[in-house]
Amino acid sequence: MKIDLTGKVALVTASTGGIGFAIARGLAESGAEVIVNGRSTESVNKGIQQLQQVVPGVQVRAAVADLSAPDGVDAVLRAASRVDILVNNAGIYGQKDFYSTDDETWETYWQTNVMSGVRLSRALLPGMVQKGWGRVVFISSESACNIPADMIHYGVTKTAQLALARGLAKFVAGSGVTVNSVLPGPTMSDGFASMMKDEMEKTGKSLEQLAKEFVMANRPSSVIQRAATVEEVANMVVYVCSTQASATSGAALRVDGGVVDDII
Ligand code: NAD
Repeated sequence: MKIDLTGKVALVTASTGGIGFAIARGLAESGAEVIVNGRSTESVNKGIQQLQQVVPGVQVRAAVADLSAPDGVDAVLRAASRVDILVNNAGIYGQKDFYSTDDETWETYWQTNVMSGVRLSRALLPGMVQKGWGRVVFISSESACNIPADMIHYGVTKTAQLALARGLAKFVAGSGVTVNSVLPGPTMSDGFASMMKDEMEKTGKSLEQLAKEFVMANRPSSVIQRAATVEEVANMVVYVCSTQASATSGAALRVDGGVVDDII
């Protein structure tokens, strides 16, 4: 199978680093024009430079905006009027005790992890439906199924993304536009690395080693018994954005290394 996305325009939110950058790279390597989004001009320019280094000749555009509020989404839409592929990757996470998670924190998580995708889908789906082709992907998490007791606020937003993706898939049924969720498990992204930074300095262990220990201690049901790489997650996303994935819609696709102990 050869994935060819030549002529398609892909908006990947929060794509200056982590899983988002790997997705932008994978889509660009398949020929898509990519819109890189991040919160500062500096981070977006850096992301674009990195992309140009690894994918020479890539067609790339910048969309600087914080997606946690409606005006940020509007700013992205101004930079991205025509989009064939929307990957809702922007998401924040962190451990927090339920009792000390205040309303403001809940609201920030809801706005960033759920409403950014609601707003972008509402604005960009009509163009895709009109053309009869489009791809929308929500980067959810295995935490959508295995709600972590120390990150309930996060888990709730990730489950909401599954409901949103499934509902939207049905909303655009028969249009040629597919809507899916991808559920990574523990993945060695930039965010994950900064969560592990203190531990790396304290123990002198590599990120891979600490990530493996994290998985064995906190996600012992993992079948691969290690964390995934960002490229492993991106591969699934690129496939589901391909023309070949036309019969996959309304699905929740796991790249969790088998952490969720369920057959289906
Ligand atoms: P990351 O922290 O490595 O990168 C996230 C990027 O998002 C950063 O570049 C950050 O600047 C940007 N960002 C944050 N808030 C933003 C906002 N309001 N507007 C625009 N950009 C913003 O993250 P990651 O680990 O690559 O995670 C990406 C997605 O994957 C998230 O939705 C996360 O929930 C999901 N996920 C990650 C893991 C994991 O283990 N890393 C596991 C499951 C799901």
